[in-house]
Amino acid sequence: MSAPTYDLGKLHGGLRLPAHKNASTAEPIKNVPVPAQLILPIEQHVGEPAQPVVGIGDRVLKGQLVAEPDGEMGAPIHASSSGTIVAIERWPVSRRHGDKAPCIIIECDGKDEAIADAPIEDYRSLASADLLLRILDGGIVGLGGAVFPTAQKLMQARTCETEFLILNGVECEPYISCDDVLMRERAPAVLGGAQILMHALNINTCYVAVESDKPEAIACLAEVLGELDDPRIVLKQVPTIYPSGGEDQLVQLVTNREVPSGGLPTDVGCLVQNVGTAAAVADWVLRGEPLISRVTTITGDGVAEPVNVRARIGTTIEEAIHYAGGYTDRAKHLVIGGPMTGKSVTTDEVPLVKASNCVLVLAETPSAGDELPCIRCGDCAAVCPVQLLPQQLFWYTCADDEKKLREFGLLDCIECGCCDLVCPSHIPLTADFRMAKGRIRELADEKARAERARKRFEARNDRIERELLEREAELDRQKESAKAAGPAAIAEILKRKQKPGNGDPE
Ligand code: SF4
Ligand code: SF4
Repeated sequence: MSAPTYDLGKLHGGLRLPAHKNASTAEPIKNVPVPAQLILPIEQHVGEPAQPVVGIGDRVLKGQLVAEPDGEMGAPIHASSSGTIVAIERWPVSRRHGDKAPCIIIECDGKDEAIADAPIEDYRSLASADLLLRILDGGIVGLGGAVFPTAQKLMQARTCETEFLILNGVECEPYISCDDVLMRERAPAVLGGAQILMHALNINTCYVAVESDKPEAIACLAEVLGELDDPRIVLKQVPTIYPSGGEDQLVQLVTNREVPSGGLPTDVGCLVQNVGTAAAVADWVLRGEPLISRVTTITGDGVAEPVNVRARIGTTIEEAIHYAGGYTDRAKHLVIGGPMTGKSVTTDEVPLVKASNCVLVLAETPSAGDELPCIRCGDCAAVCPVQLLPQQLFWYTCADDEKKLREFGLLDCIECGCCDLVCPSHIPLTADFRMAKGRIRELADEKARAERARKRFEARNDRIERELLEREAELDRQKESAKAAGPAAIAEILKRKQKPGNGDPE
């Protein structure tokens, strides 16, 4: 059995938060039966929404492609069970806090009939580029919540000198425990996925990082690692502190390398993947099952029996909560995700999607209290894991000073919420920063669009000028050769030159 190692870098700031995880980890993962209806949003990943390839009335099988990626960035979506497409329409989704977005709706037939599996017998016999293409087809995205398409992330890493794969099993946000139970119950899939990812990336070191408050998960991983006898994979135990599971923070903790401002972990030779993503890669490559289900924590004071469920993507939250014993009388507020970074939703009709790591039912609607002026205490800066100056950023968000916000590193803010939590003046700093980042990105998009339009306009003018000069030259040539033919031919040429409609390109 391989013991976890502790040689770690340091995390700046952060907070020790009450975990609230015991209730949902007391029982094993519960399987939610296939519901009567599945709702599949076409936008479940970073990038353009997928485009439906099925129509109303089509019969589909479990694992069949129902929407394909549109453009370079995206991920396919597969039917989570067999049935008939009954609608492609707008439905409430968690990504938009319960507002509607386009979804493919399947009426399930209860047979759960699967499309013929296509597992790879020996993935090691495939070239790494072919293995990457295979991963692209599985609809796999980052299951830690970021939902970045996994294949594109791997392709980007292959263009850099990536040295380490880091499996993120840290799960530092309170209440969320889906990765913890997954590591306990499916350690072979997690570590099998790590081996596949290493082959796809052609790298030889993988660190599996787990927080120190998950001894059961660490023991299960260590046992399977002993059986695998793969010295390339090393377990790393990291301190229980929020947000040690942030990508850049984890790279710092595990490798003592600092991701540069505005950069990516690959800039310092690292690629971070969530443990659930690794298991999903193993399910697809070794068993031929695309990403059609996931483990989600259903918890909080508002549910009767907090638990982790494995549910098909497209199952409504209402249905999943039913399998956690239903609501208690205290249920008041629904959050998808954890209390620090989750999204409040207005309805439990929203479906579970690839990003849904947690459904948190709170007995109270979160309220920070009345906002007071900043007293410049500096507490927010002390806890910021990115070493920003939130009080200064707050000042510049109020002044809408984009230049200063960029200069003070707003775009590096990971929206962890630590500054909010400690602010004695109850200033909603994170919400302000999220909005300001959105505005800056919109402005940058607008600038890029204007620049593209300017280039198109200049190219068009160049083309018109070039064509005019060519026509002038051609007419002059004709005039010269017509001199020999006499005055009538010259008059005809001059007439053509004066007529704007005659061959004028515009
Ligand atoms: S914690 Fe709040 S009051 Fe203190 S400096 Fe930061 S923004 Fe100001
Ligand atoms: S939300 Fe942003 S500014 Fe606030 S502590 Fe987290 S990273 Fe720092």
